[in-house]
Amino acid sequence: MRPARAPLIEIFHSVQGEGRHVGEPMACVRVATCPLRCRYCDTPQSWSAGAEFPVHGLGDGAAPGRERNPIDAARAVELSLACAAASPWRVPGALRVSITGGEPLVYPRFVREFGELLGARGLVHLETAAHDPVALAECLPVLDHVSADWKLAETLESGEHGAAHRACVELVARDGRATLDVKLVLIEGVFAGTYRAALEALAPFRDALLLVLQPVTPARQISRTIPAEELARCAALAGEFGFRYRVLAQLHPLLGLR
Ligand code: SF4
Repeated sequence: MRPARAPLIEIFHSVQGEGRHVGEPMACVRVATCPLRCRYCDTPQSWSAGAEFPVHGLGDGAAPGRERNPIDAARAVELSLACAAASPWRVPGALRVSITGGEPLVYPRFVREFGELLGARGLVHLETAAHDPVALAECLPVLDHVSADWKLAETLESGEHGAAHRACVELVARDGRATLDVKLVLIEGVFAGTYRAALEALAPFRDALLLVLQPVTPARQISRTIPAEELARCAALAGEFGFRYRVLAQLHPLLGLR
């Protein structure tokens, strides 16, 4: 079988900007292309793949290294380890690698092979829009942590993915090997909209997941974050449903980090 390949938009090593691992040093492998269109997307450049991509922290002086697309999983592992070794954020022990996007489930064989090749040298996090349970099942054996989005319909340009989100959450919850965050990005109006229905759909799996309530960072079609009062109502309802939850804003825009 040919090596698994995927187009990337960048590789770097920094601290995690979202979810339960926020602030932890982590390599980040960002896969290009995405079939969704979130109204708050801050990386529309990830929707298509370039001929090459930057590897930040490697290269000559201030200029990042460059690699051609698509890249083999083996080379992506090698670059992730090299970025971590050269990073000011490096820590002793196994490397955590977040595979994110764009949308990494477009390339499940790449994710699977990346995890197999990284092996005991690291832990693999998948950050996904959770729109494809078949692709997620292919990746799941190599994953240590899954951050699955639940895209509320108000946050999308069109459509909704509730059935696919639920199938992805159920898959990870029943498998039980990886820890699971379910992230809801909250914009103004969701409390009176589809938020309650999302909690109802997630309720059977509440013991297996941490709910991450993320007030939107304004970008693209969204000009302001959710009002504090509505955010508090969302959190209170999650509590009433019996979820463990955290209200967490994105760290990177606050600190100007990659
Ligand atoms: S899933 Fe991620 S990359 Fe795709 S449109 Fe939404 S925010 Fe952007």
